[in-house]
Formats: sequence, structure tokens, C-alpha cells
Amino acid sequence: MKSPINTRMFLEKAEKIAGVGHWHYNIETQDLFWSEQVYNIHGLNPKKYKPTVDEAVSFYHPDDREYVRSMVETCIETSKPYEFNLRLIRRDGELRYVRSLGETEKDDHGKVIAIFGVFQDVTESKLREIEIVEKEKFLETMMNTLPDAVFVKDEKFRIVRANDVFLNMYPQDKRDKVIGYTTLEDYDAKSVEKFLEFDKLAFKEGFSETEETLCFPDGITRTLLTKKARFQNVQGHQFILGVATDVTILKDAEKSVLQANKELSQSNADLEDFAYITSHDLKEPLRGIYNYSQFVLEDCADKLNEEDVDKLNTIVRLSKRMESLMDALLEYSRVGRTELAMQDTDINEVIREIIDDLSFQVKQKNVKMTVQKDLPNVICDRVRVGEVFRNLITNAIKYNDQDVKTIEIGCDRAHPKHLDKCVFFVKDNGIGIEPQHVDKIFKIFKRLHGRNDYDGGTGSGLTIIKKIIKRHDGEMWVESKHGKGSTFYFTLEC
Ligand code: ADP
Repeated sequence: MKSPINTRMFLEKAEKIAGVGHWHYNIETQDLFWSEQVYNIHGLNPKKYKPTVDEAVSFYHPDDREYVRSMVETCIETSKPYEFNLRLIRRDGELRYVRSLGETEKDDHGKVIAIFGVFQDVTESKLREIEIVEKEKFLETMMNTLPDAVFVKDEKFRIVRANDVFLNMYPQDKRDKVIGYTTLEDYDAKSVEKFLEFDKLAFKEGFSETEETLCFPDGITRTLLTKKARFQNVQGHQFILGVATDVTILKDAEKSVLQANKELSQSNADLEDFAYITSHDLKEPLRGIYNYSQFVLEDCADKLNEEDVDKLNTIVRLSKRMESLMDALLEYSRVGRTELAMQDTDINEVIREIIDDLSFQVKQKNVKMTVQKDLPNVICDRVRVGEVFRNLITNAIKYNDQDVKTIEIGCDRAHPKHLDKCVFFVKDNGIGIEPQHVDKIFKIFKRLHGRNDYDGGTGSGLTIIKKIIKRHDGEMWVESKHGKGSTFYFTLEC
């Protein structure tokens, strides 16, 4: 049956649909024919342009023109068909990729009289191909820039891809037996069992994560933190991508820090025991010295001259002082030795009780106390935290020469350095602390003034309360301006 469509029309439509054109070159007449589609690909109007062979070649990228000429010439000489994919620059300057196929036409005597072929715009697929190549290059660069070992395994646990870090864990002579192999024989049975278990888990669940210490084929034992994730390619085959971070140094450092911490806590505990035992046991003979001095003073008063009485009074005073130093030491060690009695604590109540207890002093010393409303509840040892506030408030009264002594107590719940904690503060307008002494005041028995100035104590109060806060996982610090006042801060979980 005859086709209802005119052959020429059919060809034109087919070329348009397929985006393929055809051309013909008569060697004798040098006539070059382009179909409409070839004109379209060149971005030219068939009614306004008639190409020559040289012009046709000139549309190719300058670097490709010589190649095109030689292909055509060889085709004419040898009658062998040709095919190439090259860059074409259209009249408007746009770069396109074209595929050209050509073959010869011969007369009855076998003489080549023409060549003809097809011409196709393959820009879209070429750009996709370039994009894939670039993505692959990017992936390769990224894989080999990463400090981690990266690998891909197929469902038979064969390594199908790996970066340099991964390959470098194999000795040089084994490296070409990695890709395409499971390499299971390079590891001991126990390690194999472990990493296969996590390979299987990743295939089953989509993800697995493990930390494993194993001896690698290069003879080095490493601890790796390995994450494995399942993925599927377009053919539906499953793979796992593994990324292994070498945490050997980190783990070793962690172990050393743990060991050092253990030793430090042990030696701190030993020191506390020592302080406790010595201060506790020494108190008894000290009490004896005190008591006997008192007896002599009282019972032998008529036999003692004034100088003897003075000396004995000094012994009494010094032993009293020594006793209070020992009490302070005992208290300091007790804070480290006894368990905290943690409970939900209303800080407003704690402060109210302290202010009640100090009401006489407050009145007598002309203290103006401001307490922020609605202080938060915190989980803490109520008694110990009470000691902290009491100590800071009494110091704020004590170390203050102002006629009107102001004290402000509050809590900052948005302190930039401790956003997740409650930062309590006790602020005064007292004598302040010189910057070079700020660190000293938290050291045991360190006082900045003579014993008789400011009704001073043993110089242990701040050390003890700082330790109480530390035991609550908090921090304590002071900000102060000499002569202008100080603010003591401490953090608690809230
Ligand atoms: P103590 O009051 O028994 O001497 P602390 O440990 O409480 O011991 O204080 C140590 C030193 O820190 C004090 O001797 C004093 O010099 C200084 N100090 C403490 N609180 C304040 C304050 N609010 N203002 C100025 N100086 C202070």
C-alpha cells in the first residue's frame, strides 16, 4: 500500500521531530545542500543563506576545524564513513554540540562523486554528560580531601569504591586487590564478624554506627567511628556508603584524661582525709593546752606575776585561734566528704530566713537590703546554699565603710556566658577588692586585711562556699572596683 504522506514532507517532519538534519555535498559542482533542520541547528534562515564547504567548516570551534576537514578528506579518499561529536558556534555566538555522520556516494564506475550525512544537535545530552563528569570530579576531589576513610560496598560486601585514606590503610602491594574485593582475609576473624554485623545492619535498617578498634592490613591498630548508610542505584542495586573517622588519638587522650582525673580525685580525697584527720585529732591536745593554761591562770592567780599572766593569756588566745583555723579546715574537708542533700529549694525562703537571722546587724549597721522578687527554685543542698548566701551577705556588711551600706541580691537568668544556668549575685557598695587580689580571696586562710580590721575571720569562708558551688557543678567569681564595691556571682542549675 502506498504511503498517504508525501516522502519529502515526511522527511522534513521526521527531521524536525527527531532534531536531526541531512546534508549533501557534490564534489564536482561543489554544491552543498543543507536540509531545513541543519539550517535550524546553525541558527540560519534557509531563504537568506547558501553555505559553501569552507563556510560550513568555519562554524565549528576554531580548535575543531582542522579535525573536521581531515575527517571529510579521509572519507572522500577512503570511502570510509565518519562520525564525530564537536562544538559548533552559531551565528549569534551560542555554543552547541553537534553530532555529524557522513559517508560517500559513488557513480557507476565506483568514483566518489559526493558525500552526504546526518547532522544532529546533541547539546542537551552533551551538557548532561559534562555535568555528570563534573559531579564525578567534584565527588572524587571531595572524597580525597576528606580526612575520613570513605568506602562503598555492594550487597556481597565487596568494596566498589574507596578514597585514598581508605586505600592507604592497605600496604602498597595489596592496594590493587581492594576495589572489587571484600578484603575479609586481611582482617582477623573477630573484626570481620564485627564489621560484617554492622554492614548487614546498615543494609537492613538503612543506617548503622559503630566504634571499633581493629588492626588494619598496614599493621596499624586504629579506633574508628564508622557510620554506614544504605543507598540504591538506578538499576535498583543496594549499596552502603561508609565514612570512618579515625578517633584513635582522641580515645587515647580521653583515656589519659580519665586516668588523670581519677588520680586527681583520689589525691584530692586523700588530702581531704588528711586535713580531716589531722585537724580532728589535733584539736584534742590543743584543747588540753587551752584548758591547762586556763587552770593555771585561775588556780595559781596569786602566784603569777603580770608577765606570766600575759604569756598565759597569749597561749589561750593563740590556741583559740588555732582551734578556729582547725574548725575551718575541718569544715572545708567536710564539704568535699559529705553527700549533698539535694532538694527542690525556694531561694526566696532561704534569703528570708538569713535576713531574719541578721536583722539586728542590718539595723545596727544601717544596711539597706534589696532582694529581687520571685527568685527561682533550684535543686540544691538547701543548707549548704544557705551558707553560701549567708557568707556573702555577712561579708558584704563586714567589708563596707559606707554610712548606708547597700546590698542587692538577685538572679540573672540570661547571663551571656551561662544561658542554661541561674546566675545568682550579691552586690555591695563596700570597700571593693584591688584587681591583683581578686584571685587570692578564694584561697584558704588568705585575708586581705589584718585580723583586727573589719572584724575578720579565718579567711576560709569564700574558699568553703566556692567549694560548695563547685560541688553543685557551678562556678563562683567576683567582679569588683576598689573603693566602689563588689559583686559576687555563682551559678546553680535551674
Ligand atoms: P574572712 O571574711 O573570714 O576573712 P573570706 O574567705 O570570707 O574570709 O574572705 C576572704 C577575704 O576576701 C576577706 O579577708 C576580705 O579581704 C575579702 N572579701 C570578702 N568579701 C568581700 C567583700 N564583699 N568586699 C571586699 N572584700 C571582701
